[in-house]
Amino acid sequence: MNHIYPSLTHAKTNYMNENKKLTTASGSPFYYNEDTQSIGQRGPLLLQDYILHEKMASFNRERIPERVVHAKGSGAFGTFTVTNDISKYTKAKIFNQVGKQTKVLARFSTVGGEKGSADTERDPRGFALKFYTEEGNWDLVGNNTPVFFIKDPKKFGDFIHTQKRDPYTNCKSPTMMWDYWSLNPESLHQVMFLMSDRGTPYGYRHMNGYGSHTFSFINAQNERHWVKFHFKTAQGIKNFSNDEAAHMKSVDMDFSQRDLVEAIDRGDFPKWNVKVQIMTEEEAKTYKYNPFDLTKVWSHKDFPLIDLGVMELNENPKNYFASIEQAAFAPAHVIDGISYSPDKMLQGRILSYPDAHRHRLGTNYEQIPVNRCPYAVNNYQRDGQMRVDDNGGSNPNYFPNSFDNIVADEAYKQPDWQMDSLIAGWFDRNAEGENDHFSQPGIFYREVLGTQDKKNLVNNIVGAMSGISGPKRAEIINRQLCHFFRADIGFGMEVAQALGVNVEDAMPKQHPTQEVTAKA
Ligand code: NDP
Repeated sequence: MNHIYPSLTHAKTNYMNENKKLTTASGSPFYYNEDTQSIGQRGPLLLQDYILHEKMASFNRERIPERVVHAKGSGAFGTFTVTNDISKYTKAKIFNQVGKQTKVLARFSTVGGEKGSADTERDPRGFALKFYTEEGNWDLVGNNTPVFFIKDPKKFGDFIHTQKRDPYTNCKSPTMMWDYWSLNPESLHQVMFLMSDRGTPYGYRHMNGYGSHTFSFINAQNERHWVKFHFKTAQGIKNFSNDEAAHMKSVDMDFSQRDLVEAIDRGDFPKWNVKVQIMTEEEAKTYKYNPFDLTKVWSHKDFPLIDLGVMELNENPKNYFASIEQAAFAPAHVIDGISYSPDKMLQGRILSYPDAHRHRLGTNYEQIPVNRCPYAVNNYQRDGQMRVDDNGGSNPNYFPNSFDNIVADEAYKQPDWQMDSLIAGWFDRNAEGENDHFSQPGIFYREVLGTQDKKNLVNNIVGAMSGISGPKRAEIINRQLCHFFRADIGFGMEVAQALGVNVEDAMPKQHPTQEVTAKA
């Protein structure tokens, strides 16, 4: 296997031809780069050798905190091209002309593993995008699955702890994972996606992406529609089997990184067909599922996919750390014509993502070149660590003022949300639907998965659940089996039998549509 990227070899050659002088970080040319000043050839070192300090100090600080989730990732630049006119739904300038192209940055990732972990782990994959639009950077920070494990952000930290390391053994723990999932039946839909072969995609080029949350489109008349974004791989879906994914860990830990960078280097640019589902505000009030629940999809039959454009990745970053490790995506970053929804997980992420970036990269993370908006940025935020632009120069640093001509333009006012019909009315009419964690997983099993997909799903689940250990093993397995039965009796039977569990013990005692409370 070729472990040296052609582009890196090429870059090195170019660099060598340029014949530059070696300098300190402050630009002063120097000669002694390998020998530290010392007293005699064998002697102790001199404190005054600043070159030594600078080299050691810089090295000591090379690593920034890794992302607490999505630490292992790969990315590339490319273009988004509009192929269909959807201006009746949104005034976002990025979509205002068929054929219009916008520069985009994509970062794909695993979720639970550390920065050095294997790319082929069974895990959802992050699918984070930054569109450098003329009216600001728009970030869409989704996954390769249309749903998620939880629907309330207050649960996020607890959930992620179960995907990380056991505090005592410092090892990954199937017991923690299944204990948590079995106590949170809302996770079932995503657990089934994760345990299907889509949980081990063949690199990043062969998977779909989803904005996952419901967002809103706002058009020129200031009317709101709810929207979901879909990115369908033009390379075709391709997954590893469980055994292939496990084997690849020992062959190439960086399979997905290598696959992406090599494809782009050889000009085989990956593409995704971008589509949206649109729901009116009226339809949202009566849809059979809560359209703002991240554990549910909108059926394609009810809300067909509408073409929007094509995304192509065609440029590897010249430097991984500069462009990918320092990339900071946040669903808070929307633009005129695209806005939020009441989705509780989205609302939580609006706060937590910029907060995480301020911790990891500093308060001025949006000035790092890869995150910086290439168009005008005008505001009164000043100072802070690593303020690397001109900090507003001598312009006023308060608003309003009598000296500059920066206006808060009323053209960007958004329509109000009708909270009474959206929220209060919602619960009155659809209380039972809110707690239906099983219908869509059941449809997924019965109507979407083929015969072989079903077999693989059951085998993958059995393999993963076999790792549950300790005194609570039987309790956790039985509780999780109840959820499988509630999704589909036949599915529950398959898993129970493969695990060697007495089916009588595991069958749910309630009607399938009744809510299973966390401690049931
Ligand atoms: P459809 O039959 O119209 O859509 C099912 C969708 O499932 C397909 O379009 C495809 O979407 C996706 N799919 C196909 N094979 C697999 C697989 N092996 N693993 C995961 N997803 C697959 O039905 P509905 O829209 O009514 O949805 C039925 C069920 O399908 C849902 O309950 C959900 O579990 C699942 N699903 C629905 C999606 C949606 O947004 N409506 C998206 C993905 C899955 P794609 O090409 O986007 O993967």
